[in-house]
Amino acid sequence: MEIFAAGAGSLRFARGYAAVEALDFAGIAWRGNIGREERENLMQFREDKISGNRLSVLGFGCMRFPRNFGVIDMQKTENLVMEAIRGGVNYFDTAYIYPGSEETLGSILEKNRVRDRVYIAAKLPLVICHGPGDFDRFFNKELERLRTGYVDYYLMHMITGGDLWKKFQSWGIEGWLAEKKKAGQIRRVGFSFHGSRDEFIRVLDMYDWEFVQIQYNYSDENFQAGITGLRKAAAKGLPVIIMEPLLGGKLARGLPREAEETFKRANPALSPAAWAFRWVWNQQEATVVLSGMNEGRQLKENLAAAETALPGCVGPEEAEVYRRVLGIFNRSYRIRCTGCNYCMPCPQNVNIPGCFAAYNSSFAMGFIQGMQQYVTSTAPTSERMSGPGLCVKCGKCEKHCPQHIPIIRSLETVRNRMEPVWMRWAIALIRFTLGKTRPS
Ligand code: SF4
Ligand code: SF4
Repeated sequence: MEIFAAGAGSLRFARGYAAVEALDFAGIAWRGNIGREERENLMQFREDKISGNRLSVLGFGCMRFPRNFGVIDMQKTENLVMEAIRGGVNYFDTAYIYPGSEETLGSILEKNRVRDRVYIAAKLPLVICHGPGDFDRFFNKELERLRTGYVDYYLMHMITGGDLWKKFQSWGIEGWLAEKKKAGQIRRVGFSFHGSRDEFIRVLDMYDWEFVQIQYNYSDENFQAGITGLRKAAAKGLPVIIMEPLLGGKLARGLPREAEETFKRANPALSPAAWAFRWVWNQQEATVVLSGMNEGRQLKENLAAAETALPGCVGPEEAEVYRRVLGIFNRSYRIRCTGCNYCMPCPQNVNIPGCFAAYNSSFAMGFIQGMQQYVTSTAPTSERMSGPGLCVKCGKCEKHCPQHIPIIRSLETVRNRMEPVWMRWAIALIRFTLGKTRPS
């Protein structure tokens, strides 16, 4: 893997880039003089050897654009996206099923005339494809939303194993992809994966993939594709895009205090998020690490981390720190929910990720804090309560969970801990007094 980092060559590249950016974006969100841009644009790039593209090691995950009352905040998102591009980020990952994401990204890139400065990764939503006719239907919609004539990196979204890919092969997906590639509408084909390591290796050999996307972080080194999958894919010359480097934010904001302090004692200058990113970038097989940034502060911090975390940056002492933190983290992270929301909405209005987050917090932050979070997430005394007791075990949610969590069983575990008998009585009494009934 060839690395473009803060060496002479990359510095020259970054400076050239910065100068162009400074001219092109003047007046949109000017940050200072060119000298300052030069200093800040030291993005590290890693090569996609199949296409020759130089991809920024920090990619923008567009699933969690900033929102106001549930609606994407356009101005804030535009500022973030443009600031990321000026910082050197050139890989943007979106998907058909991320609400509002493709439209927002497409309109920002068009408005600022930067479509050809970035690589767009989009995804065919296999989970809602009911026949071969859906391939064109979803893909054309994606092009329309993204306001573009082509997608640089197109993923088969959420493959869980070889049998799933076989089903799509029988629907003629390989022929369809070949046509789209010939027409120049899809540049490179890959898949995102949530299944076992063995299935990942099986899927790798089932098609002439040009890149892959896997979940990977210091807590998931041996989970799903894991380090074995990462190395197998890299050995085939494939760029590997990393998702969930912060495990849905758990490794940034959800660490137990003891774990945070362990990191701080080892290096007070690095945040838990920076520690998590460094762990991934330390491995040269990881090409791009996606981060779902929704605040300027996060972006700034991630850009700074991306400059310095080169392969081999983690020495034996740091490795020992990760080992200690992981031991602490695993004691509190009982249900491996990343908060992706793929299981939602629940027809009974159960706030599945909220229940799991509160349950985990009750171990990480202490029972009282976890309980506060639980009451906020499940609104037990309101008209629209959303606690685990509402579950009717229909199983709809479990089919969509990329982490393969036994949701129904786990909700019972949550209820047993977070709703002890005395609390159930107290809630029933309050609801009776307020005249509230369960939602139908
Ligand atoms: S199994 Fe329970 S939590 Fe899952 S969708 Fe059905 S009612 Fe909702
Ligand atoms: S339960 Fe599964 S699908 Fe639902 S938010 Fe958690 S990880 Fe995502």
